Amino acid sequence: MVKSQSSNYRGRFAPSPTGPLHAGSLVAALASWLDAKAQRGKWLVRIEDIDPPRCAVGADGWILKQLADCGLHPDSPPVWQSQRSALYVTALEQLKKTGACYPCSCTRKQITDRLNAQGVPPSRHHIAVYPGTCRPKSPLAVHPASVTPPLAERERPVAWRFQTQQHAHFDWQDRRLGSQQQRVATEVGDFVLKRADGLWAYQLAVVVDDAEQGITDVVRGEDLADNTARQIALQQALGLPTPRYLHLPLVRDAGGEKLSKQHGAMAVQTDTPAQALDALQSAAARLGLSRAVGRGDSTSLAEALHGWCQEWQEKWQTLMEGPD
Ligand code: GLU
Repeated sequence: MVKSQSSNYRGRFAPSPTGPLHAGSLVAALASWLDAKAQRGKWLVRIEDIDPPRCAVGADGWILKQLADCGLHPDSPPVWQSQRSALYVTALEQLKKTGACYPCSCTRKQITDRLNAQGVPPSRHHIAVYPGTCRPKSPLAVHPASVTPPLAERERPVAWRFQTQQHAHFDWQDRRLGSQQQRVATEVGDFVLKRADGLWAYQLAVVVDDAEQGITDVVRGEDLADNTARQIALQQALGLPTPRYLHLPLVRDAGGEKLSKQHGAMAVQTDTPAQALDALQSAAARLGLSRAVGRGDSTSLAEALHGWCQEWQEKWQTLMEGPD
């Protein structure tokens, strides 16, 4: 625990409203809240609803209600990414002006065909590393894109890709996972910032929002750790600060699969204070925190949260070292 940095700590919980909170997402919510509160920081909630086909109607309201039922109240009103596109437009324009991104008209099939022709199997999580078909020939060539759209954009919709620097190696220190590194150009490739269908990509939105909201500490599930190098690359290209990162152990089901809405994880029940406390007890247990004990045989939510906050402050590092 870095106590000297407590005053400016700003953390966040950033759920995608693909469904209500389940046992796994409640762990991320609780851990990010505890980390912020244990450092006397602020905790914000951001609804990441930039991909409408993946969002479930009413899930945002349900998530906010579940958080409130659990006593996890944000220190500022929640924000919705769907209402923040002006910020993403400005960031993309900045990247266009510095030649840090380029338009790409490749279809998924063209990418696969090109990789097949090169004899490159899809490697990373079965996702193809973009073969660079639309990448400008001269490195970091400046496109007059903000003035005159390139030919490809006038003819059909294009995606915008970040132009990763070929030899850039991103190293960062994760608070739980320790020293991490990734060579973005070869392991991920030039990644999408804005899709050809006009939707903003997670990488751009998250980087812009974390900076705009002054986030100093990102606490999220380990499945997202792999995105961090891309986010640092974008932060550097946009001249934005890099927050500290803490990636939490994943919550798995009995079959070892990560709990997720896609795999049918059930909504946590929080309608009554007893249900909310029960849901929090399970989330806390997954983080290695003790069972909350109150006065007499009843523990209030507030008492439980206060107790875990103290425990987190004293020994979060040991808790995080526990078996995954
Ligand atoms: N919206 C992402 C999710 O629900 C989390 C993004 C993040 O914490 O950076 O998986």
